[in-house]
Amino acid sequence: MLSNDELARWDRDSFMHPSTHLAQFARGEAPQRIITGGEGCHITDRDGNRLLDGFAGLYCVNVGYGRTQIAEAIAKQAHELAYYHAYAGHGSEASITLAKMVMDRAPEGMARAYFGLGGSDANETNIKLIWYYNNILGRPEKKKIISRWRGYHGSGLMTGSLTGLDLFHKKFDLPLAQVIHTEAPYYLRRPDASMSEGEFTGYCVRQLEALIEAEGPDTIAAFIGEPVLGTGGIVPPPAGYWQAIQGVLDAHDILLVADEVVTGFGRLGTMFGSDHYGMKPDLITSAKGLTSAYAPLSASIVGQRMWDVLARGTDENGVMGHGWTYSAHPIGAAAGIANLKLIDELGLVENAGTVGAYLNRRMAEELGDHPHVGEVRGEGMLCAVELVADREARRFFDPSEGKGAKVVAAMLKRGVIARAMPQGDIIGLAPPLCLSEAEADQIVETTREAVREVL
Ligand code: PLP
Repeated sequence: MLSNDELARWDRDSFMHPSTHLAQFARGEAPQRIITGGEGCHITDRDGNRLLDGFAGLYCVNVGYGRTQIAEAIAKQAHELAYYHAYAGHGSEASITLAKMVMDRAPEGMARAYFGLGGSDANETNIKLIWYYNNILGRPEKKKIISRWRGYHGSGLMTGSLTGLDLFHKKFDLPLAQVIHTEAPYYLRRPDASMSEGEFTGYCVRQLEALIEAEGPDTIAAFIGEPVLGTGGIVPPPAGYWQAIQGVLDAHDILLVADEVVTGFGRLGTMFGSDHYGMKPDLITSAKGLTSAYAPLSASIVGQRMWDVLARGTDENGVMGHGWTYSAHPIGAAAGIANLKLIDELGLVENAGTVGAYLNRRMAEELGDHPHVGEVRGEGMLCAVELVADREARRFFDPSEGKGAKVVAAMLKRGVIARAMPQGDIIGLAPPLCLSEAEADQIVETTREAVREVL
C-alpha cells in the first residue's frame, strides 16, 4: 500500500481539484484529506479519523453511506448491462423504471423526466428546452433568463452565469449576456432593518417587476430559483415569497424553473421543495438526492405545458438534437431505483422533516442569542448559522477575517464536518436525511463549542 506521504505527493502533483486554490494546493499549503470509507452519517479518512458528515458530502448522500442495497443494485446492473445509450428511443429496464418512479413522485402537472449526469447539465438542458419552446411558439426574442444574486445553479457556461456568486464569475467572463440577476430573498440582509418579512417580500417583488419592465417582458423567457437558496447561504424564503413571485411570472408569461438539485427527493421534509412552498414550476432540476450520489445522475422534469410544445416542435422539425452519451445511464438508473426505494422504506422524507426541525430548534436554542450570531435559520434537513460582528447594527465581519471558516475548522477538530458557505460567514449544515436526534445533538453541541472557541 502507498504511504500517506506518497499519496499526498501524487495528489499535489497530478490532481487538479475542483473549486480549490490551485497554487496553494500544489505547494502543499492547503489541507488535503483522503476519504476511505463511510457508514451511515459518518466517513473515515486515511489518517484514521471518523467524522460525522454534517454536509452529506455536498448535500447529496441523502440516504447515508454504506448502503448495501444500492451497492448491490449497481453491481447487478454492471454485470447485466453496464451501458446502452438512450438515443432514438433506446432504453434499459432500469432507466424506464426510474423514469416512472420519478414521475410518480413529481409534483402535479409534470409530464416527463429527461436524465443527465449532474445538476449543471440538467440546468443546461432546461435552458435549452426553454429556448426551443419559445422558438416553436414563434417568440425568438423571448430568451433572457432571470436568476437571483446568491443563487447557485452550477458552474458551466450558462449555469455558471445563472449562479449569482462572484466566485463563479470572476475571471471567467461570466455571466453571459442572456442572464440577468435580481434581488436575493435574504431577509437578514434586507436593505432596511425596519422591514417586516412581508414587506421584504413586497420589496423583492417590486425589484423583479422593475427588472422585467426595464428589460421588456417580451424578452424574458424564464425565472430560475432554488426553493431554499443553498450555496448562497442556506436561506429559506421570506413569508409569501413564492406565491408572490409566481403571480408576477404568470402575469408576464414567464416560465418558472425550480432548481431542486438540493431540495429534490426529501430534504425539506416533502418529496420536492415545490410541494413545500406551493410552487408551480414548468421545469424542475434534480440530481443529488436522486441517487444519493451513489452514481452520477440528474433528472430534468418537464411540465405538461412545455412537453406539449416540445413534442409539437419535433413533429414540425424532426428529432430534437439534444443528448449526452451518458443520458439515462443504466448504472445511474439502477442506483436511483434502489435509492428511492430505500428513501420510502426508511421513511427518510418524514425523518428529514422531524429530525431537521429538531436540529434547527436545538441550534436556535443554543446559539440564537449569541451576540455574534445574526441568525439561525433553516428548513427541513438544512440549517445555517450566520455570524455577525454586531448583531444589533447588522454589521457583518470583514471577509478577510475568515470567521466562518475558523468555526468550521474548529468543528472539524471535534469530529463534525460543516461547510463554510462561500459568501459570508455562514456555517452550513445539510446532513444525510437519516440523521438521528443523538447525531443532531452532537452537531449542535460541536457548533456551540466551536463558536465559543472562535468568538
Ligand atoms: N443547482 C443547485 C441548486 C446546486 O446546489 C448544484 C450543486 O451544488 C447544482 C445545481 C449543480 O450541480 P452539479 O454540481 O451536480 O453540476
